[in-house]
Amino acid sequence: MSKTLFEKIIAREIPAQIVYEDDLVIAFRDINPQAPTHVLLIPKKPISRIAEATPEDHKVLGHLMLKAGEVAEKLGLKQNGFRLVFNNGADAGEAVPHLHCHILGGRKMTWPPG
Ligand code: AMP
Repeated sequence: MSKTLFEKIIAREIPAQIVYEDDLVIAFRDINPQAPTHVLLIPKKPISRIAEATPEDHKVLGHLMLKAGEVAEKLGLKQNGFRLVFNNGADAGEAVPHLHCHILGGRKMTWPPG
């Protein structure tokens, strides 16, 4: 199977502004930011989306959620708040079939989301 865009970022085949990396996850700045700070945090394992995750993914998904908070803090978003978004499937606007957590902050968010 051909690599997804995000697998190519993990493999350093295409460039990205990486803000955090460990054995299980990597975080990099979104190329089309929707907020003053917009980072994507992804598992290195190519899980396509949250609805395709399996019980064996619980460790990486738990790790990813903990790291989302840590990365947001590192980016200076803890005090004023931030939003985490997982787009799953067509209606949600998912464009890249590799699980990713959008970390958005640096401005006031509205609700409901668009
Ligand atoms: P989604 O619509 O939830 O699938 O989000 C995909 C995100 O990937 C979008 O916010 C895009 O702006 C972002 N994106 C696409 N290509 C790149 C890239 N080369 N580097 C960083 N972010 C990207």
